[in-house]
Parts: sequence; structure tokens; C-alpha cells
Amino acid sequence: MLTEKQKEAEVRKWIGISHGLTVDLGGKNCTLCKEYDATDEDGWHNCMNADQIEHCPVAKESGMNDCAYTPYGKWLKHRITTENKITHEVRGTAVCMECRVLALIEMHYVYKCIDKHLGFNRHRVATR
Ligand SMILES: [Zn+2]
Repeated sequence: MLTEKQKEAEVRKWIGISHGLTVDLGGKNCTLCKEYDATDEDGWHNCMNADQIEHCPVAKESGMNDCAYTPYGKWLKHRITTENKITHEVRGTAVCMECRVLALIEMHYVYKCIDKHLGFNRHRVATR
């Protein structure tokens, strides 16, 4: 189960990416991938938590593993088809307006998935 702090970290990461301040390293720096990093009996990553009980909230929302058919795919597609040719960096950080918009869409999507599927109260004021 993710904590409120982990949710904030993931949201903050995508805001950072949209501002060109943080980088996307795929599963290597995804809070959700770290939590839901189990593999099935055939050794395939299956977006479940270690005890194979809970699915990643993004997989729950999309019905697919590995962020397929989510805004992450649109981000990645733009990165591969456009930015990779210039920067030779598939993931990385936002370098154009489309990158910024796609990173913010991903941020909203992750936020929604976590709130919806893990029961976070979106109206609660964050305290620290
Ligand atoms: Zn771009």
C-alpha cells in the first residue's frame, strides 16, 4: 500500500519533469513501480505488490500492465518520435511545450489513479 508521502513524491516528480527539473527514468524512479514490482510464475513483471495481492493503481485503472494505454504511453511516444532524435534521450525531462503538457497529463492521471484505487481522500489538506 502506498503512503500519502509516496503519492506526493510521484506527483512532485511529474511536476518537476514538466518544468525540466526532474527526469523520468521509467520504472527506475517510479514510486509505483517500486511498490508493485512483483513477477509472476513465469518471471514476467506483473505490476503487483510483493505478496501478489494488490495491483498497481494505474494497472487497475487502465486494466493493462506496464502503463499500456495510459498517458505515460503518449509521453513516451512523443519522446521517442520527437526528442530522441535531438537529445538521444528517450525518457529524461521536458524540453518542449508538448513534453510539458504530456508530463502534466501524466501527473494528473497518476494522482487520479492513486486516489481512486487506494482510497486517498483528495479533499484532505496535506500536512507536513
Ligand atoms: Zn517534447
